[in-house]
Amino acid sequence: MFNSYILPPELWCMVWKDMSFDDRVNATHVSRYWRHVARSCPRLWTNLQFYSPVHHVECECAICGPYELNTRAIWKQPGKTNYQLVLNALPLSGSLPIHLDVHVTPFYADHGLLEDFGMDIRNSSAADRLKSLRVVFDDPDALMWLLSGLESLPSLTSLITLAVTSEPIQFSHVRAWRNNAIHLPALRTLVLDNMRWQCPDRQWPIHLPSLHFLICPLTDPEEVVRVLDACPALKALHVVVPSQEQDEHFEPDWTLDGPTLDRFAEIPSVHVIGVSDFETEKWALRNFGSAPARPDFLLHYLPDAAPKFSAFLTNDLRDCAPCASPTWAQRTGLAYARTLWLRCWCLSVVPPS
Ligand SMILES: [Zn+2]
Repeated sequence: MFNSYILPPELWCMVWKDMSFDDRVNATHVSRYWRHVARSCPRLWTNLQFYSPVHHVECECAICGPYELNTRAIWKQPGKTNYQLVLNALPLSGSLPIHLDVHVTPFYADHGLLEDFGMDIRNSSAADRLKSLRVVFDDPDALMWLLSGLESLPSLTSLITLAVTSEPIQFSHVRAWRNNAIHLPALRTLVLDNMRWQCPDRQWPIHLPSLHFLICPLTDPEEVVRVLDACPALKALHVVVPSQEQDEHFEPDWTLDGPTLDRFAEIPSVHVIGVSDFETEKWALRNFGSAPARPDFLLHYLPDAAPKFSAFLTNDLRDCAPCASPTWAQRTGLAYARTLWLRCWCLSVVPPS
């Protein structure tokens, strides 16, 4: 029989390092020796993958059926999470920085569970070591509830979200990406996919002093001002145009006032993602493309929009040229793999020399 003692512990750690979190946990159940080796290797527990497919107690999906208070009181929501496994693994990483991947389904997920998970991370003092957080969600409120439990992430540099929704997300139905004054002093990269920046009825102050790179939808001038106020160090902003399904009330007819345009001009790199027609094109140029000295300004067209509308622009502005969006894919990485199609067409507006 194969004798695991012939390999030194460091080699076992190297073998396990790139396996999924669940497989690493499974390795600790194989033998007492493997358990000892794996639990004594902090590097093995710095990349954690949490998942929760647990349905909300009031969920009325095809599995849960219609909601009735009497029956739901004794109801066990469908879905099995690895909550406890992740919590048990946190202390094994010692004092090393942690990277956490979160995967939440279904469209109406168990919010209390997410908030409790955030609180348990905070209580284990591992929140101080959390370096990056990636949230893949079906439920657009998942991040909000997780952050609500975490409250403060002093070392977090990257927060990336990715919507893999089973139902179209309407902005009028979703809340802001956070519902409390979450403390994120070191955050440099923030990607908000299908999430609102602000909550119309509750305005929590937010300050992101280190934020350099932001992708988010911006639906009105107030929201733009709020972002500028919150992120004084912003170097690159990708504004996502809300689609008709997301925000039926979005009208690309507003114009930023002079002082806001002046503040906006300080951001060296601005992209507008999802330009769909001549109206959104004009809106994007008027509000985000008016700084002549900006070194990097790109419009990303929806695939069927570019052939129709980009010709107008190239005729009007001689310094425009079609290009195959160069850096967008690498900078946002996996988070925007879903929207590959947005990159098919874009215009690079080169400032006149
Ligand atoms: Zn359900």
